[in-house]
Amino acid sequence: MKSPTGKKQHISLYDTTLRDGCQGEDISLTLADKLRVAERLDELGFDYIEGGWPGSNPRDEDFFREAKKLRLRDARITAFGMTRRAGSSAGKDLNLKKLVESQTPVITIFGKTWQLHVLEDLKISREQNLEIIEDSIEYLRHHTGEVIFDAEHFFDGYQDDPEYAIDCLRAAAAGGASTLVLCDTNGGNLPGFIADATRAAAAAVDKPLGIHCHNDCELGVANSLAAVEAGALQVQGTINGFGERCGNANLISIIAGLELKLGCHTIGAESLRRLSELSHFVYELANLPPRKSQAYVGQSAFAHKGGVHVAAVRKNPLTYEHIDPAAVGNIQRVLISDLAGKANILKKAEEFGVSVDSNDPKVQTLLGQLKELENAGYQYEGAEASFELMMHRALNGHLQFFKLVGFRVIDETYKGSELPSSEASVAVEFLDGRRQQAVAFGNGPVNALDQALRQVLTKEYPQIASVQLLDYKVRVLPGIGGTAAKVRVLIESGDDHERWGTVGVSHNVIEASWQALVDSIDYKLYCDQKRRQESELSAGRKRG
Ligand SMILES: [Zn+2]
Repeated sequence: MKSPTGKKQHISLYDTTLRDGCQGEDISLTLADKLRVAERLDELGFDYIEGGWPGSNPRDEDFFREAKKLRLRDARITAFGMTRRAGSSAGKDLNLKKLVESQTPVITIFGKTWQLHVLEDLKISREQNLEIIEDSIEYLRHHTGEVIFDAEHFFDGYQDDPEYAIDCLRAAAAGGASTLVLCDTNGGNLPGFIADATRAAAAAVDKPLGIHCHNDCELGVANSLAAVEAGALQVQGTINGFGERCGNANLISIIAGLELKLGCHTIGAESLRRLSELSHFVYELANLPPRKSQAYVGQSAFAHKGGVHVAAVRKNPLTYEHIDPAAVGNIQRVLISDLAGKANILKKAEEFGVSVDSNDPKVQTLLGQLKELENAGYQYEGAEASFELMMHRALNGHLQFFKLVGFRVIDETYKGSELPSSEASVAVEFLDGRRQQAVAFGNGPVNALDQALRQVLTKEYPQIASVQLLDYKVRVLPGIGGTAAKVRVLIESGDDHERWGTVGVSHNVIEASWQALVDSIDYKLYCDQKRRQESELSAGRKRG
């Protein structure tokens, strides 16, 4: 979309993650988190950051106090509140006083535009409501630089009585509001109607319009984009769509849609490449797992599983991708699965730096082996380290740092102890035939095994001391019922360089854990070896 001057139309972004977003059931951000979010949004080029509602939540006052110390580049911190109460004056209204006291450069207030609310909730006349809107804004305009008006329930009000809803906008404009924001507060409207009502409002009032949607019909993003196409110049929403009920309109998808689909300017191409990072950053602070299938930024947004798709995207990504994932800071992924075809294996090999000829018969063997393992319950999504090891073994021959001679685990509960204690012994043989064994205790059998394995290997491979076990998951595999069922164990490990996932499958949970533990250690030793070889190679190149 072009502006009247022929440049890309700028759509201003108004983030309300810290206010409306924090109304979400599982969302809780500390003051420190909120300040970090604000700084990040500013860094990326957001225009407004709504920090809270000082009249309703005293903790939000702390935010406004601390936010003043932030050195923001362009973003304007905004306080949120409502129009004055009926039967009093703006100057005496406590809510408005709190807003002024927060000393933000911008104040946003919401007011009623649906006569149902005016007559039945506030129990005042239609005219009184118009006065309240106008004089509340007028009062705030004397105390702050900019006042934005959120027209609450505008679309429901417009459906009920279009003229009155527009009169409310006119009252806000007369009071001096800079932007009139049309709100789909209940989230119940559809894009066609949102567009029509926005166009009507744009024709009736001579002020910039904004849009504030909720996601109750899963149309928060669609409705926001429809409003922009109909003339709105500001979009309000939250990062990842956090918010009450089904959430607010998701700004992440809206930004990508505005920039990449509608040709508008919001944060610009450079910041757009940090969109995935921004989304994950906010999930991380809210202590929530990112949604894999989230549009544009989810881990699966550009992940391909079907063999035909993989073959095609290798030739030309546009065949099965609607945008270049790099534009939003995401990446294409090729999943390893029972649908894996030859193309998948080749792509993965390329990713892991293994050179294979597509006509090499070993590729076919590997494919067969992979199918067999998957039938047995192995799955490599999330266990890519195990997959890489398996691929190396199949294509480049042996890759082993030690051999298992045997292990034993004993669990004991005795009188007086609250929890059972575990003891594990492990014996291994090194490549030169030497044998080593160790015994260790742990708070559970897997922990004891892990300890014993480390003890037995540390002398030979001191670098494994830096490996940490970060996560451990057990899944009972469908098929055979009860305790006879197979289990799959997924382990996530990490060191100073990276994190990796490994997998084990067995009828015995200890055996499955052992497989995943050994793969984890093998992977660490293999990566160190690879790094060493690479640095030797580059040193040799420099000398040569
Ligand atoms: Zn809202």
